[in-house]
Amino acid sequence: MLVLLDRDGVINEDRADFVKSPAELIFIPKALEAIARLNGHGHKLAVVTNQSCIGRGIINEDQLDSIHGKLRDALAKVAGRLDDIIIAPDAPWAATERRKPGPGMLIEAMRKFNMLPAETVLIGDSERDIEAAKSASCHRILVQTGKGRKTLADGLKRHLMPVHIAADLDEAANFILEGRF
Ligand SMILES: [Mg+2]
Repeated sequence: MLVLLDRDGVINEDRADFVKSPAELIFIPKALEAIARLNGHGHKLAVVTNQSCIGRGIINEDQLDSIHGKLRDALAKVAGRLDDIIIAPDAPWAATERRKPGPGMLIEAMRKFNMLPAETVLIGDSERDIEAAKSASCHRILVQTGKGRKTLADGLKRHLMPVHIAADLDEAANFILEGRF
């Protein structure tokens, strides 16, 4: 399958004031190992992340590259890797279809890896992730890390169903490896 991962709140701890440096990128327990397990079973993995901190002028692309360098290095240590990191830098007030809940990044990823929506699953912690996946007709998993608990407590809109609920990326990886999709 093609596994599309939201970043903040799925792989690393979400921060209300944005991850602005490698030091602020704090990994969620077992998340990196979950990515490596999926790699090991032949799945393609790509991050699809809204990074409005670029569009807002809080950090620049070089700083974002150094944050993702830390992510790639940490993954390499557990024999994991990402096949792509796709970014929507748009500020919310200048959002394009690429910024989630728009499906643009997901459609780009499916084209790049030549995968159908039925072969693609998105894992996210926010309703906008799930909205983007619904718009792109992908399978969807909501994790309970990051904003996930609040997202679930607030209630997911009915049109987004079915949504699989996992404790974290580790459990979401198990769903995929069990062949649920
Ligand atoms: Mg998130």
